[in-house]
Amino acid sequence: MQRIKQKLRDWFGKEIVYVRITIRILKRIIKEYLKKNNYKYPHILQLPITYKCNFDCVMCGMKKQKELKDFSADELGIILENPLFSKIESVGLNGGEPFLKKDLIECVDVIIKSCPRLQQIDIISNGYCTDIIIEKMIAIKKMCVQNHIRVGISFSLDGIDDMQDLMRGKTEAYEHLMETYRRIRENTELYCDRLGFVCTITTYNISRIGEVELWARKNNESVSYNLATIHKRITNEDKYNDFSVLIHPGKKMLAQEFFYKKFLETREEKYFALFLYLKEGKRYACCDFEHGKGVTLTPNGGIGYCATFSKEIGNASFESAEKLFVNNRKYREKELLKSCSGCSHYIYGLSIKGLFKLRKELVNETIRKR
Ligand code: SF4
Ligand code: SF4
Repeated sequence: MQRIKQKLRDWFGKEIVYVRITIRILKRIIKEYLKKNNYKYPHILQLPITYKCNFDCVMCGMKKQKELKDFSADELGIILENPLFSKIESVGLNGGEPFLKKDLIECVDVIIKSCPRLQQIDIISNGYCTDIIIEKMIAIKKMCVQNHIRVGISFSLDGIDDMQDLMRGKTEAYEHLMETYRRIRENTELYCDRLGFVCTITTYNISRIGEVELWARKNNESVSYNLATIHKRITNEDKYNDFSVLIHPGKKMLAQEFFYKKFLETREEKYFALFLYLKEGKRYACCDFEHGKGVTLTPNGGIGYCATFSKEIGNASFESAEKLFVNNRKYREKELLKSCSGCSHYIYGLSIKGLFKLRKELVNETIRKR
């Protein structure tokens, strides 16, 4: 049987790849069509919940916003009463550092009560305040279990030892994160349904990225890699020339090779899209925020179509979030979408054009192997 399968693969290898990827392209065309036409109200809420942060990462400008006031749980509840949030299925909670928000538990309670279709909460943390994270995650997990909601937590791991401290602008950042990780790993289901790590690639850590890979392999953990990018919400434009691998040809090449290697290893579209982004300077990935599937709500009630390049279209504390979202649609379609081709944020699945590029790559690969 194995030999027959191998023979078929040898004879029709190229054609099988061709058919498989063509089916994927057709499915994506249908999905994109539905996406453009279906989202009156968003399904994803990106919710940076506080301006406060105890770190000063090399690719982040949140420090400039630390004096700004966050909404309280009650104020958040009033905002979320608006029909715009009635179809939210997943909420991404980040910051700042979400665990510095004193009323985080109350906010999660309000989110659960206000979003009747909620299925998933994903939290991103720097992992520094071990005891607070442990205590609050137990409470959050309990609330989620009672309401049949899954909760995931991802920690930012940008390097090992001194590299994590350098990237995150905080001494002992690595030590604290490892302690938090150790405690959560001991009894993961008490705290969350999914534990993961995110790593942001910059000029600082790209040459030592192998250490993160090794750490992940040794600990049997998965790390999701992203590219540091300009991000309006975290006001990091002034740091761009220092952190972006796009500005430094040698580092850019290292990052490009790294993402291609990740693609070969995982076969994930995300890594092929990041590789293409570096190679061609263009985005070949779709984005949930392009056509209104997602919305961003900032810690002062500001509404944006996305967190990266969208302007704040208004403040949901004073105006109807639904009206803001609907009335500014022209801005989204005519202006914001112009920024998308240069944006490397929220890169997961390939766009249709990206899939055609992948098809060419896979077909050539099959031919090379013969
Ligand atoms: S990236 Fe996150 S942890 Fe780092 S300074 Fe910004 S908000 Fe804080
Ligand atoms: S600018 Fe980036 S994050 Fe915003 S909608 Fe476009 S691709 Fe998505």
